[in-house]
Amino acid sequence: MAFEGLTDRLQDIFRKLRGKGKITEEDVKVAMREVRLALLEADVNFKVVKDFINRVKDRAVGQEVLQSLTPGQQIIKIVYDEMTELMGGKESKLNLGSKTPSVIMAVGLQGAGKTTTVAKLAKTLVKQGRRPLLVACDVYRPAAIKQLQVLGEQIGVPVFSMGQNNPVDIARASLHHAKSNNRDIVILDTAGRLHINEELMEELKNIKEAVNPDEILLVVDAMTGQDAVNVAEAFNNDLGLTGVILTKLDGDTRGGAALSVKAVTGCPIKYVGMGEKLDALEVFHPDRMASRILGMGDILTLVEKAQASFDEKKAREMERKIRKQEFTLEDFLEQMQQVRAMGPLEEILGMIPGLGKQLKGMKAEFDEKELAHIEAIIKSMTPEERRNPEIINGSRKKRIARGSGTRVQDVNRLLKQFEESRKLMKQITDLTSKKGKKGGLP
Ligand code: GDP
Repeated sequence: MAFEGLTDRLQDIFRKLRGKGKITEEDVKVAMREVRLALLEADVNFKVVKDFINRVKDRAVGQEVLQSLTPGQQIIKIVYDEMTELMGGKESKLNLGSKTPSVIMAVGLQGAGKTTTVAKLAKTLVKQGRRPLLVACDVYRPAAIKQLQVLGEQIGVPVFSMGQNNPVDIARASLHHAKSNNRDIVILDTAGRLHINEELMEELKNIKEAVNPDEILLVVDAMTGQDAVNVAEAFNNDLGLTGVILTKLDGDTRGGAALSVKAVTGCPIKYVGMGEKLDALEVFHPDRMASRILGMGDILTLVEKAQASFDEKKAREMERKIRKQEFTLEDFLEQMQQVRAMGPLEEILGMIPGLGKQLKGMKAEFDEKELAHIEAIIKSMTPEERRNPEIINGSRKKRIARGSGTRVQDVNRLLKQFEESRKLMKQITDLTSKKGKKGGLP
């Protein structure tokens, strides 16, 4: 998971602060030195770190903070606020103007995830009731056109291409095509290069001039850390970006790019890529991201994800069962299939305050094959056993293992997992039901 190292370090630092009844200026200084190191290690831009620490320090050594009843908490809140601000403050929405079609131009280096991301973006826009047209302007890599066509087909969005023609002509022609085919947003997938070069920039400038885009979005790979920020700066200087999409934030990135891009370039991060699947694109919320980085979870995103992939009536019924402890192994199986539809389990669990760390490494145990095993085991039980797993004794376990082609250990493991999940899901329902009342900082 992204930010893992940073989150661990910050939590250690804050634990020490929280443990103190009284905090002196010297304590703040020591803590800030540690925060500074943690940020630098996470590959946050040097200058950004310096400004950030100064701002936090200025606010934290104020009289009210140090003399308050909960100085440690107050300082954490200041760090949270400043981190949110650093990443842009609030969500930065797409600005699609009023002309039809609107034009989004996606730019970036090769391998950043540009083609995948334009498809994800198109899918998001379709969900909002828009009618996008994807346009293949990357004419140098023949496979790129094919790739876009395949993705377009998967999401049911048409793709406009003109083979290896001049990209500027293609971009211009795509606007006419959109108009005459009732498409209201054109998304241009432009060519990338391995490195920034003049030829690339020249071509992009020409496309920009020809189609006057509402949005010029840079797609950058979060895994490249400081490089991502340098790339963003270069593209912004030459093209004038309107926003950044940071991809591969699901990977093992230290997170520096997410924390530095806005401060260095002035361009807001609008979306983040959280996986290879076409629905793994999230709107970037600086406050929620700060909360995740500080290890405070992200209940709002979790609830939204749940709402998007659960049938509400079913979910309510499930919640009732969990509360009343009537949750059976059949429900468990169904629940697991639904949770899997929400995205990688590790990511989901990371959004639950305090749970992310405990459940590290659970991903490995939870692959597709395991799901098939679990299904087989549960299907080999009698209805009575599914409702009352307590009755499953040694001889029943043997029978179930035989019936499902698994081993008794597998049956044992499932029963244990079921028990743990029962507890975990009760925690989740308790938490989400509090969300409306509390809001803000978890
Ligand atoms: P392009 O050269 O910039 O068009 O890059 P592609 O769209 O071909 O993507 C390059 C690779 O990155 C592909 O294997 C994608 O599946 C992968 N990729 C793109 N976005 C993400 C993301 O958010 N997370 C992960 N894990 N992989 C991604």
